[in-house]
Amino acid sequence: MKKTPEYTGFELGPIRPPSEAESLLIRITRNCPWNRCTFCPVYKGSRFSLRPVEHVLKDIDTVKRCVDIILEAKKDGVSPNEALEANHIEDLHAQHAAYQLVAGGMRSIFLQDGNSLIIKPGDLIRILQHLKNAFPTVGRITSYARSHTIARIDDSYLREMADAGLNRIHIGMESGSDEVLKLVKKGTDKATQILAGQKIKKAGIQLSEYYMPGLGGKALLEKNAIETADALNRINPDFIRLRTLAMPVAAPLTAQFRNGDFDKMGEVETARELLLFLESLDGITSVIRSDHTLNLFREVDGLLPDDKERMIQPIEEFLALSPEDQMIFCIGRRTHRISRVSDLHNPVTRGYAEQMCQQLGATVDTMDEVVDNLMQSFI
Ligand code: SF4
Repeated sequence: MKKTPEYTGFELGPIRPPSEAESLLIRITRNCPWNRCTFCPVYKGSRFSLRPVEHVLKDIDTVKRCVDIILEAKKDGVSPNEALEANHIEDLHAQHAAYQLVAGGMRSIFLQDGNSLIIKPGDLIRILQHLKNAFPTVGRITSYARSHTIARIDDSYLREMADAGLNRIHIGMESGSDEVLKLVKKGTDKATQILAGQKIKKAGIQLSEYYMPGLGGKALLEKNAIETADALNRINPDFIRLRTLAMPVAAPLTAQFRNGDFDKMGEVETARELLLFLESLDGITSVIRSDHTLNLFREVDGLLPDDKERMIQPIEEFLALSPEDQMIFCIGRRTHRISRVSDLHNPVTRGYAEQMCQQLGATVDTMDEVVDNLMQSFI
């Protein structure tokens, strides 16, 4: 019989969605079981493994103990750090996680890493029930999952997970185009993405889908926009979140780009794709969020269908600008001198953006190269 590895303390994975900044992070698996997407640098070079359920439950118990001590200390007006020390709690990661949960108002928990639903449904349900017992006031428990995995889970298990407290799943759809998905080795197809999304909604779990403008490169601009919108129109997720393609050093796609094997789009073409995508969304009631610094347009944020025209308008305004003004906006936005297209009408913010263009030596012809370098610091 295989021996269970020894418990070495509270574990923390590398990432969480920006919307989970105040959540308690509970790691139930390590890394990503797929790990082949060419645009994704996160777990490259790291092997996937399941954590023993008993270890996860131990993490939860330790954080719960820390939270109780911190809350008690605050009530008594004594130092939480001293109280933790007096109670011989030495696990600094668990302490940090407990402080994070208390600071966030004990509202949400995120299960790490890249595809938590890969574990046995019974194990996940046990973890969820343990979390609910430990933290009954927490209203939201969320996780990343792959479409490929969700599509294979029986509906009855998904409903049991929902009943046990899992109430939001984040899926990196990235694209609804089979050609793009194949190109970037996403390991799933449009039909599976649609099926998985519909199953999550049917189970009564909130669904957050991520779309990656630019992922198909110049050749697949239209397909990436239209096919992704079509897939989302068939799902009607609760949230559609934008994550513009970037070129992190550790992503295999970056090497393909440098070798001339990937025809990456610049800012203007990416804006065209985003416009076509938004225009193609139809008959759904999703919230669109531009909640990542990689996105050019902060204004693309609102509720469909009512806010659709408002979200489209700044992109149209940007595309109608002269190449010189497009450059000032892009460089200004990427250097945080400008936040919205309308800021170009403000002589002060515009002046700051122009200064940055000069400082970085950006011209209409070199703008995309300058932006690519700037975006390295955002990843
Ligand atoms: S499935 Fe997600 S975490 Fe895994 S390689 Fe692809 S994008 Fe990265």
